[in-house]
Amino acid sequence: MRVRFPSLAPMKKIAVIGGGVIGQYISWKLSRAGYNVSVFDYRKKEYLKDKSCSVLVSERIKDFIPITDDIIENTIEFCDINFNRRKTTLKFSPKHLALNKEKLMNMLLDLNIKNGTRFFFETRVKKIPKDFDFIIGCDGADSTVRKILKLKNPKMKMGVQWCLNQKDYSKTTETFLRKNGFAWRIPRGEKIECGFFGDSDERGDDMKGALIPVPGFPFINAGLIFSNKDNVALCGDAMGLTKPWSGGGIIWGLYSADMLVKNFPNFKKYKKEVIGFFWWKILIGKILNNLVHFLGVYFPYVIPKKIYYDNDFSVAFRGKK
Ligand SMILES: Cc1cc2nc3c(=O)[nH]c(=O)nc-3n(C[C@H](O)[C@H](O)[C@H](O)COP(=O)(O)OP(=O)(O)OC[C@H]3O[C@@H](n4cnc5c(N)ncnc54)[C@H](O)[C@@H]3O)c2cc1C
Repeated sequence: MRVRFPSLAPMKKIAVIGGGVIGQYISWKLSRAGYNVSVFDYRKKEYLKDKSCSVLVSERIKDFIPITDDIIENTIEFCDINFNRRKTTLKFSPKHLALNKEKLMNMLLDLNIKNGTRFFFETRVKKIPKDFDFIIGCDGADSTVRKILKLKNPKMKMGVQWCLNQKDYSKTTETFLRKNGFAWRIPRGEKIECGFFGDSDERGDDMKGALIPVPGFPFINAGLIFSNKDNVALCGDAMGLTKPWSGGGIIWGLYSADMLVKNFPNFKKYKKEVIGFFWWKILIGKILNNLVHFLGVYFPYVIPKKIYYDNDFSVAFRGKK
């Protein structure tokens, strides 16, 4: 998607709350367009990488961020889904990249600093900051901005990951279906990542970075949560935007971030475009996810052994694309 920038951006002051991937992508684009952007994050600069995330994303990320080869730990072409009694292989189209989170965050920081974005690390935002014309809440699944505006919370799941010190450059990631989630194994080149994602009602403050918002049945507030103030917008996990079948949020977050930047500062148009683009995708993704879980448990033999699959938009197709 191409983003057209205003030719002469007035020096409006913008506060981006949250310096994760989506917050930094937006701040980079807006500061490049000439806006005066400040990013607030409660983490130290060197700990931005510590937010739980496998950063396994489709090659579409290159349409947004200039990913260099050194950021890619491994390329993943297949995903084996292990049902109890059968295995199905998805051939990812486009391919997926296991990215190094630290290098990705450093690249985004560099891009921002070059364009004049100001950073305020170790600054936890507890109320809407004053002296800014616009506020963009990119503070993740457990968003404070969302709470300040007294908006509904999305349904939350918990994702946990850990790594084994074992080399594996194979091209297949594996998933194992669990009730309301799945476990995974990702070959990351110099190490192997394992993890799982599923329901959890128990969480301490230190686990908040491991939360994944998952769209419920998509009436507008369930999975797509929008600000109720004209000068405040939400984006990324803060608005509950993750893929209902995997919990992955980076690519969808970047699509919505582009919509925000393109329509900036008209947040009403941004909302309209996000609803038009994602509403059906969430609905269809949710239905397909439930169907695959059901068939995988009760009728595994009706699921084809190999499926060509666009994992960003839950589209399966025949043959090579
Ligand atoms: C275990 C796990 C694995 C995942 N794997 C993948 C994957 O492989 N692929 C994929 O696409 N997605 C994955 N996701 C989802 C992905 O991590 C998110 O969709 C993505 O990080 C969202 O980016 P964001 O910038 O919106 O929010 P975040 O990355 O959560 O960034 C929010 C930032 O806001 C800061 N912040 C929060 N509150 C405040 C506050 N009050 N004041 C100041 N700063 C604040 C935080 O420190 C953080 O840096 C995974 C998630 C989990 C939990």
